[in-house]
Parts: sequence; structure tokens; C-alpha cells
Amino acid sequence: MDSAGTAGLGNLLLRLFFRRLFIPYLVLICLAIAGVGAFAGVRLRSTYLEGRRQGLRNELHLVAGMVRDDLDTGRVAELGERIKGLGRELNCRITVIRGNGMVLADNWADPATMENHANRPEILGAIRAGEAYQTRYSGTIHEDMLYLAKHMELPTGRYYLRLAVSAGELRGQLRVLYAGLTGAAVVTMAVAGLIVFLFARRHSEPIVELTGVAEAIARGELKRRSMTDEGGEIGALARALNTMADAIGQLLAQAEQGKAELLTILASMSEGVIATDGQQCIRLVNEAAGRLLGFAAEQANGKVLWQVVRNDRMIKAASEVMAGGESRVVETGPIGGRHVEVRLSRYRSRGEAEGLVVVAYDTTHLVRYQELRKEFVANVSHELRTPLSVVRGFAETLADGAMRDPVKGPEYLGAILRHTEQLTNLVNDLLALSRLESQPELPRRAKVDLGAAGRKIVEMLLPAAQKKGQTLTVDVAAGLPSVVGDPDYLERGIANLVDNAIKYTGEGGKIEVGVRADDQNVVVEVRDNGIGIPAANLGRIFERFYRVDRSRSREMGGTGLGLAIVKHVAQVHGGAVEVESEVAKGSVFRMIVPGRWEEG
Ligand code: ADP
Repeated sequence: MDSAGTAGLGNLLLRLFFRRLFIPYLVLICLAIAGVGAFAGVRLRSTYLEGRRQGLRNELHLVAGMVRDDLDTGRVAELGERIKGLGRELNCRITVIRGNGMVLADNWADPATMENHANRPEILGAIRAGEAYQTRYSGTIHEDMLYLAKHMELPTGRYYLRLAVSAGELRGQLRVLYAGLTGAAVVTMAVAGLIVFLFARRHSEPIVELTGVAEAIARGELKRRSMTDEGGEIGALARALNTMADAIGQLLAQAEQGKAELLTILASMSEGVIATDGQQCIRLVNEAAGRLLGFAAEQANGKVLWQVVRNDRMIKAASEVMAGGESRVVETGPIGGRHVEVRLSRYRSRGEAEGLVVVAYDTTHLVRYQELRKEFVANVSHELRTPLSVVRGFAETLADGAMRDPVKGPEYLGAILRHTEQLTNLVNDLLALSRLESQPELPRRAKVDLGAAGRKIVEMLLPAAQKKGQTLTVDVAAGLPSVVGDPDYLERGIANLVDNAIKYTGEGGKIEVGVRADDQNVVVEVRDNGIGIPAANLGRIFERFYRVDRSRSREMGGTGLGLAIVKHVAQVHGGAVEVESEVAKGSVFRMIVPGRWEEG
């Protein structure tokens, strides 16, 4: 057990022992013993005094019998001696008084020096009742005394006989009795206290143990169980506590599992998720949120939203939503080159104050797609407008009279034809490209022999090359695997490459087409010794409408779409394109398509 637990138990022991059990019982028992003792004391005193009085009375009667003769015969001197002897024996003071109050004899004082006793309260009492007790201070011997006086009517006259004992002596004897009684009470209290202490401890121990277990469980030590073998209510409580610990353990395990699942799901999401409490303090955040919104997700828990997200629009929207507004969508603009759309809404969890949920989406590809679309439309319009305006210009000039000009008429018509052809090429290329892009599946899947396709294209384009005095050769490696795909597309891809080589190679140039196989692919390579492509442009030539020299390309009847088509053809067949080029030296283009040996 740790020190906190021990301290807790110590306090509890004190509380249980002394406040709850020990002290109340002890006080109760002490009160009971004190009450009984006080009662016994009072009874003891009265019984003792009563006994003493009774004794004094018996002695009085005894003495009365013995002095009667002396008084009857008037032997006063003998009377004095007699009472002295009796007084010694009985250990008391004996006084004989005449009816007029004159003291005849006294064993403790000289009668001659004693004043008249007619008015002593005990004598007055004896006159009234025959006998009378009195406790008072004795003026003769200067001490508290208990007196008993008796009235005696004798033939020789009236007398009073009085016996007295020291009240101080009586009190002394009573004190001894009280001391004994008090001692007995104290011993009884001590024994009772010990018994109560043992009893309290006996009954507190299991409760202390249970409390220790409950405290340990509250601290999260869910494996702790009560080992008490008590029966009765405490046993039942211990079993209930153990069952409760089992149940809490299970619930916690379930909650932990649920939380772990939630965190795993959140972690695997590509959308960023942040959940905050009512004060916008972050309670839950995933990796993607940090990546998209530009903060370290692992350090964001417990921080306030504005401390981690440095985007004014989003923070403002969060405050507005929390202030009772509708859910909001905010575009954050580029953060680290990414476009992010953030959706903010309130949520209420189990009656607590409302919190905020932020879901962030990466819209970079959407934004890029929209930009590409705009760019494409602008490019297409531009590409269409140029030949159309040329055609229109020539047509207008013809209409204005050039038609009748034997030289210019045919020339302008030829130009119109060329540009119309250019337009047709453009539209065909656009259609081919859009078909390639919109159909993830190839329209036809057939075994294609790329070697044969290469030979066919070279044969087809040989006249164009010859027109420029170029040599166009084809070399097909033996034992080529076939590829699976659309023969029209593949032929078109090769044709575009060979056509470009003819276009961008000067008069008398040399163009070699090679078809060979590498590890897994069939490679169609078109090599020329033409104008080449500057290194700066090389990375972009497969983009649509990208040309190194726009007017030259157009002059050649190019559309700027040829290489984009080649790239798409390769890609839809699971392949790729490559280019190597050097200005004024020539270029090598490769269309690479996976071969199918097993099917070949
Ligand atoms: P175009 O219809 O203009 O030929 P392409 O997409 O086929 O369009 O080619 C794009 C650009 O790449 C061309 O405009 C040209 O500048 C360059 N290019 C293509 N092939 C070659 C080549 N064999 N030699 C030099 N430049 C080439």
C-alpha cells in the first residue's frame, strides 16, 4: 500500500475508533459507572450515618441505664468517674446536664467551666421529643460534633444525658469509604475502556480494510479485492464491493476498447477531425487534422482551438457557430500548398454543454481539377479560334473578289482546306483524348503484336518522310511477346510518335523505329536526329496543348494533343512514356506497354 493509502487508513482508524465507536461507548460506560457510583455513594453515606446514629442511640440508652443510679442517689463525683470510663470505652463524649441547663458531668471538659446548656439545640429537641439529634459546632471543644440528647425524668429531678461523637471523624471514615468506591469505579472504567477498545478495533478492522479497498479502486487499482472472511452485513458489503470492482473493470475495459476503436478509426481517416468542449478546448483530434490545418496533432489535446489553428476565418467561424449560429463551411485557402475546406458544427454530448466538431477536407485535387478544366476550355477555345478566324479571313477575301483571281483564288482555297484539316485534326484528337479519359475500361481487349503495328505505321507514314527526304526505318526484335489492349489506340500512339519525329526533323533527317522487349514490357522506341527539345520544356511536353514552339507546331498541322494521347494510351494499357532529347541533336520517345508472355 502506498503512503497516501496508509495516511488515509490512519485517519480512518482515528475516525472509526475514537469518534464512531470507542469514544461514545466509553463515555456511555463512564457515565453509567459514575451514575451508579454516585448513587452508591449517597446510599453508603446515608446507611453509614444511619448506622452510626443507631449505634449512638444504643450507647445513649446503655449509658442512661448506668448513670440512672448515680443520679438517683446524687453521687455526682462518682458520676464523673463513671462517664469518663464509659466515654473511653465507647470513644465518645458524654455530658450529663441538669434540668436547668447546668452541666453536671462531662468526660471531655470540666463542668465548672462550661456554660449553661439549656439552650443547646439538642437539649431543646429532647425537651420537645424526649430524644434529639443535632450536628453542630461545639463551642466547648471547638469541633463539629454529632450530638444525641435524651430527657430523663428521675425522682431526684429532670436530667439530660447527651452523647457526642466527632463529625470530623465520621467524615474521615466516610472519605475512606468514598475513596474505595471511587477506586473501584476507576478500575471498572479502565477495564470497560479496554474492552470497548478491543471491541471497536474488532469491528473496525474489516471496515478499515473495505475502505482501503474502496479507496484503492477509486485511485484506479481495479485489481484490488477485499479478502475479509467476515460474515453478516460486513461480509455482504465486501462481496458487493468486489462485484462492483469487477463491473467497473469490465465497463472501463469496454470504454477503453470503444475509445481505442474510435481513435483507430479517426487515425485512419483522411479527413481531419477535431472535437472541442464548450470553451473550444480540444478533446479529440486526429493526425489528418494536424496535417491539413498545419499543427502538431499530438500536442494539441487540451489546448484551445485558436492556440493551434492559425486561421482567422476559421477561428471567427468557430466562435460564431458556438455563439449559436448555424453550421458553417470555410475554405482556408492554401495551407502548406493544400486547399482545405472546413465544416464547423455544434454537438451536444450526454447533456453536457455543447461542443464544436470541425471536419477538414483536402480539396486540393478538386481545386486543381477545376483549374485544369478552366485551362482546358481556354486552350480549346483558343485552338479553335485561330484556324476558324483564318478560314473566315480567307473566305471573306475570296468573297470580296479574290475568288476570280486565277492565282490567289486557288491559293486561298488551299489555305482554307489546310486550316479545315487542322480543325478536323483538333476535333479528332480532342475526341480521342476525351474517350481515353472518360473510359477507364478499354473499348477492346485484343492481343496486339506491337512489332506488326510498328511496321504498319512506318509503311503508312513513309511517303510523308520521303517527301522531306528523310530515311524512316523500322527494326523489330525477334520473339516479342504480344500485349493486350486496343489495337487502334496502340497504333495511334505509335503513329503520333512517328508523325512528330517526321514533323520535328529537318530535310534528309533520319528516323528509326525500334520495337523490343525488356523484362516485362514491350518498348516502342522512336529515335530521330531532329531539332530536339530544350531541357526546360521536356517535363511538360506530355501536357495537353503544350508545345515548345506554338507557331511551328501549328504550321506542321500539330494540335498540341499528340503526346497527351500517347501518354494516355500507354497509361490505359498499364504502361508509361519516356523521352530523352537534346536540342539540335534529336529525340528518343518510348512508349512502354506491359507484355503478356503467358498469353502470347
Ligand atoms: P503537336 O501537335 O504540336 O506536335 P504534340 O503533343 O505531339 O503536339 O507535341 C508537343 C510538342 O512537343 C510539340 O509541339 C513539339 O514542340 C514537341 N515535340 C514532340 N515530338 C518532338 C520531336 N520528335 N522532336 C522535337 N520536338 C518534339
